[in-house]
Amino acid sequence: MKRTKIKKILTGLPAGEEIVVKGWVRTKRESKNAVFIALNDGSTIHNLQIVADPAQFTEEVLKKVTTGASLSVSGVLVESQGKGQSIELQAAVIQVTGEADPEAYPLQPKRHSLEFLREIAHLRPRTNTFSAILRVRHAMAYAVHTFFHEKGFLYLNTPILTASDAEGAGETFKVTTLDLEKVPRNEHGEIDFEQDFFGRETNLTVSGQLEGELAALAVSEIYTFGPTFRAENSNTTRHLAEFWMIEPEMAFYDITDNMDLAEEMLKYVVKYALEHCKDDLEFLNERELQEEKNKAQAERNELSLLERLAFVVENDFERISYTEAIDILRQSTPNKKKKFQYLIDAWGADLQSEHERFLVEKHFKKPVILYNYPRDIKAFYMRQNEDGKTVAAMDVLFPGIGEIVGGSQREERLDKLVQRMDEMKIPREDLWWYLETRKYGTVEHSGFGLGFERMIQFVTGMGNIRDVIPFPRTPGNCEF
Ligand code: ATP
Ligand code: MN
Repeated sequence: MKRTKIKKILTGLPAGEEIVVKGWVRTKRESKNAVFIALNDGSTIHNLQIVADPAQFTEEVLKKVTTGASLSVSGVLVESQGKGQSIELQAAVIQVTGEADPEAYPLQPKRHSLEFLREIAHLRPRTNTFSAILRVRHAMAYAVHTFFHEKGFLYLNTPILTASDAEGAGETFKVTTLDLEKVPRNEHGEIDFEQDFFGRETNLTVSGQLEGELAALAVSEIYTFGPTFRAENSNTTRHLAEFWMIEPEMAFYDITDNMDLAEEMLKYVVKYALEHCKDDLEFLNERELQEEKNKAQAERNELSLLERLAFVVENDFERISYTEAIDILRQSTPNKKKKFQYLIDAWGADLQSEHERFLVEKHFKKPVILYNYPRDIKAFYMRQNEDGKTVAAMDVLFPGIGEIVGGSQREERLDKLVQRMDEMKIPREDLWWYLETRKYGTVEHSGFGLGFERMIQFVTGMGNIRDVIPFPRTPGNCEF
């Protein structure tokens, strides 16, 4: 007989049905007349209760049914006598397909710390928390593709190996096949990348944007959704060395259209989660409430996870210019009382996460879109405004996270773009192909980057980005 997944059993199979179920044991409880096994197969947060009559099974089999062991069980579904479930499986045959020595198996049926679970990332998908996150992550990816597909955007795969460092920030991972023991040198004593695989210096992509623009300036609207690599040595709860980024690029969009799209997309995917991941989000909501009991009042969220998600879907984001934000921050209590680590004194300062979170969590109490940033703190490709000192950049700031989206209207005027590249010492010849799109049939266009994991953090309420990607890569950590 084919196995039936637990989700299907719990959401609709009638009592009397004969089935085979396969999964991993979460807990076992024994009473005189019955053994109760909670089995989970990851198709849902809920376990299937299996009831075995100890008289029908050998001691040897029942002994092997321990937390973490894998089972194949056949039997008949019956209405449950106990609380907590409406249906359960009366076991006829139990096959222990893989034992899990209870002395050695690291996951016990109790609450483990997230730090400990990171050390056993190969097993953490077997916990309620991580299987819920994996399911939510999947649903979010599906929602992203659905959102863009329904709008007529094309999914574009941009290269992972590249010779350009889109931001010029220099936080790239080098890619080479040169023998590191005997690196070839040219006559100037520099590393001779001409002998390298691609005949030039290459790295892993930090953004698909520049290539994304090339396609948008032909098919109007595209998005990328791929792995992104940044060798930033910042050990924060919001940065990974390898993360997934969604980058739409749209021809004929100005900065306002860009903000509208970002807001619509974020609302769409959060709403999708609320509608399609109900059980998992309820579990994560409860989990957060439990965690917060150990926190000081001031550190607790004012709204529960589910309330925060509903709030984002139902309310318009606040849109203010960078200049207005600076005024608010300068006048703010934490700035006056010197509570910020970085005090805001003058226009032109780069905003830190603490400032972004102040605006979102304390001042406006809702997501905020900041636009028109000083051009000196932003990338060369952002469109220069008439005032001569700002660019048409926009960042979306979320509660608990800070920046979740960074984007801009792109500079479509060749002369302005080249002038800015020269000022920032970005060699024209490196980006000759990018410049050609401005030479031939240039148009107004815009785009942004959304960090997929930061969005999953928001939707799941997880405080650390290492807990929303299956196998996190961070400084000093590339296990699994
Ligand atoms: P931050 O200031 O937080 O480092 P950034 O300005 O470097 O962000 P962008 O270059 O605009 O970010 O990238 C677009 C989006 O990608 C960000 O809004 C964020 O959601 C995400 N992102 C950027 N860096 C990382 C990272 N190291 N790990 C995970 N997500 C990231
Ligand atoms: Mn960064």
